[in-house]
Amino acid sequence: MPITKTTEKVDINKRRIINGADADVIQLYPMRHTFAWEAYNTGNANHWLPTEISMQKDIEEWKSPTFLTDDERKALKTVLGFFTTADSIAANNVVLAMYRHITSPECRMYLLRQAYEEAIHTHAYQYIVESLGLDEGEIFNMYREVDAIYNKDSFILSFNEGIFNPEFKTGTFENDQKFLENMVIFSLILEGIFFYSSFAVMFGFQRQNKMVGSAEQIQYIMRDESQHLNFGINIINTIKEEEPELWTPEFQAHAIDLVRQAVDLEATFAAEVFPKGIFGMNADGFRKYIEHIADRRLARVGLPLQYNATNPFPWMSEAIDLNKEKNFFETRVTEYKVGGTLDW
Ligand code: FE
Repeated sequence: MPITKTTEKVDINKRRIINGADADVIQLYPMRHTFAWEAYNTGNANHWLPTEISMQKDIEEWKSPTFLTDDERKALKTVLGFFTTADSIAANNVVLAMYRHITSPECRMYLLRQAYEEAIHTHAYQYIVESLGLDEGEIFNMYREVDAIYNKDSFILSFNEGIFNPEFKTGTFENDQKFLENMVIFSLILEGIFFYSSFAVMFGFQRQNKMVGSAEQIQYIMRDESQHLNFGINIINTIKEEEPELWTPEFQAHAIDLVRQAVDLEATFAAEVFPKGIFGMNADGFRKYIEHIADRRLARVGLPLQYNATNPFPWMSEAIDLNKEKNFFETRVTEYKVGGTLDW
């Protein structure tokens, strides 16, 4: 798109999450969607790398023939089987759907940060697999071999048809709703629901003081993911304000239906991959927990609660609660926050 030579300044009141003016896309300041800039700065302050976390204790525990039970070993491999491809799916969606169609430059700034974080997460899973000497072919291919993972990933990927098409453009009622649907699928469901039984399993390990390096990797990922989810919810809610005509009763019913399908897929995943339960969490507990977090996601975008399930894993909400995040992560070295000199 060629630029027009003009002294006329960008009117930020016309800035839009989608369908904004072309010139607006490359002018960061002045900002309208300040939540995105805050998320960008939080992401930078939370920067971490998988290689900074010691995996030595995990390596010894994994090598020991008796330290972990067979069920624990299977659980760790299966959650890695889900995780290893999930963040690649998320990264593709950030770059090939969200970045292409979001016209707010401050939101695009955050998406660049988010895309990098998704890469760090995939790196973390690779680092765990490599450190423990797991069979890469087995773990990374699980999404095509284990029904419960395949069904979740197929559900998500089926919604990429259309929006990943290079011809796809927002600007019509139908396509703008398609974009909103994409946000429901990727933020509320993939980042907000499909990670959470696996997060709970990793916290189960941590609570037993087992595989603490792997669990710490996942803690950092969960902290990043809760920011991704917050950002996605802000995007949905801001589009609702900017283009209220999209948020029809039919669309709301559709979003609720998608979330309900996702809850069933996630509960089935937990029941199938942990058939005997794990760390005191059984299939019924997982379902209640998933229903509880699904209700929280629905409430954040103004949709009615579907389950009213009480949280059977209250220790998870403590781990996730963003207000406690600082205490939770306070053991972390914070050199990224203070900057420091570059040493070439
Ligand atoms: Fe993410």
